[in-house]
Parts: sequence; structure tokens; C-alpha cells
Amino acid sequence: VAEAPALELRNVHASYGATAVLRDVSLTVAPGSVTALIGPNGAGKTTSLRVASGLMRLTSGQVIVDGVDVTRASASARAKGGMCHVPEGRGVYRNLTVRENLLMQASSTGAKESIEIATSVFPRLGERLSQKAGTLSGGEQQMLALSAAYVAQPQLVLVDEPSLGLAPIIVDLVFEFLQTLREKGVALLLVDQYALRTLSIADHAYVLRRGEIAYDGNAHSLLQGDMFEQYIGEG
Ligand code: ATP
Repeated sequence: VAEAPALELRNVHASYGATAVLRDVSLTVAPGSVTALIGPNGAGKTTSLRVASGLMRLTSGQVIVDGVDVTRASASARAKGGMCHVPEGRGVYRNLTVRENLLMQASSTGAKESIEIATSVFPRLGERLSQKAGTLSGGEQQMLALSAAYVAQPQLVLVDEPSLGLAPIIVDLVFEFLQTLREKGVALLLVDQYALRTLSIADHAYVLRRGEIAYDGNAHSLLQGDMFEQYIGEG
């Protein structure tokens, strides 16, 4: 029996008011695999993640996690079920300290363990435990946001533009971290502006254009030939 996908969006339509943003979007993330979701600004990438994690309601369609229809489940229920959404623009509580943020991320993990785990992955956070998250650098905030994807021990992680606005050396750290998650067998759905880099660590890729899936296939094939130009080259 084939294993159920870690995540499936099935014929999803979503809109902001009267503006349709996702049109019949279907995508699948296989267990333990890395799936890239790329495409120009405004294509609907962020909206797709928000629909998947329950932060946004869809107009029609289904969200299925491990074979279970969660379309009507709340975002917190989906999080408890093993889904972690790291939103665009650093999902941290700015007025809480690093330690408090890490404690919020701990679910089944104990408080002490969660801090140990996060600081072993990102030692920089260990030096900043008592500091308000809002006073961290952009890179440190992103590390703190990403540490939820480790501390909460999810099976499925949705990451939105993890390298946006970060210095190249921090981008390297972020991608190393994503590789670590993948090696742990976590399924990843990755939205990123750095399409080349994202595709190079992805197994499968989707390209979204104007709310519709324009490419559905192997990530490495997309990197080759003029397909890449055709779908994303125009920016
Ligand atoms: P980006 O990389 O710029 O974030 P994206 O592919 O993630 O792009 P979305 O953020 O999902 O795209 O946005 C898709 C469309 O929905 C865009 O046309 C955007 O202007 C519109 N949109 C996004 N958020 C809202 C909102 N809160 N209210 C109205 N329209 C919105």
C-alpha cells in the first residue's frame, strides 16, 4: 500500500474578497520529500501555504494531511497534528524573549529540551536567550522562527521565503538547516525567491503563475533547459 502524501491540496480555490487568488490548485508533498513552490511575486505562493496550514479559509477544494481531510480543522489543530508553518517575515513574538519564544514552540518536547535542541542547532540563539526577539537581527529572528520546525518535531514543515532579506552567509545557514530537517525525514514545502537554490534541494517542484499551477514535475528537470526561463526567468 502506497503511503499517503504528507500534504495534498486538492482543487483549491481561494480568494481575497472578490479577487480570486488560487484557481484549482492541486499539489502533493510526498512523505519525507522536499517540494518547491516557486513563481513570480503575487502568484499565490504565500496564500497556498496559508490555506494548507489553516490560516486562511478556502472557497472550495480540500486540504488532506496523511490521508485525513483537515479542510475544516483549525490552524492549531493542524499544528498539534504535526504541521509547522514558518511564515514569511519571521514568525516570532517580538515582545517575548528568545527563551519565551522557544518555550512557545515546545509542544510534546519538554521546556528544557526545547531550549537545548534549538541552541544546539543555532548556537547564536543560546547567547541571546534573555533578549527580546524584536531586538534580534533579521537573521537571528529567522533562526528563531525556523527553530520551531525542529523543536516541535513536526512531520510536515511549510516554509515561506526563509532567506528573504538575509545576508548570504545566513542564507547558507538556513539552507543547511533545511537539509538537516530533510535528513530527519521531515516533509518540506518550500516557498522561496531563490528559485535556483530551492530547486537544487527539492525533489519535486510546482510553479505557480497567477494563481494556477503552470509546472508540476521533477525539480531537477525544471533547472535544466529553457523550462526554467519559460516559467520563472521572467521574474
Ligand atoms: P509574494 O512573493 O509577493 O509574497 P505570493 O506568490 O506569495 O507573492 P500571495 O502573497 O499569495 O503571492 O498573493 C497572491 C495575490 O493575492 C496577490 O495578487 C496579492 O496582491 C493578493 N493578496 C495577498 N494578500 C492579500 C490580502 N490580505 N488582501 C487582498 N489581496 C491580497
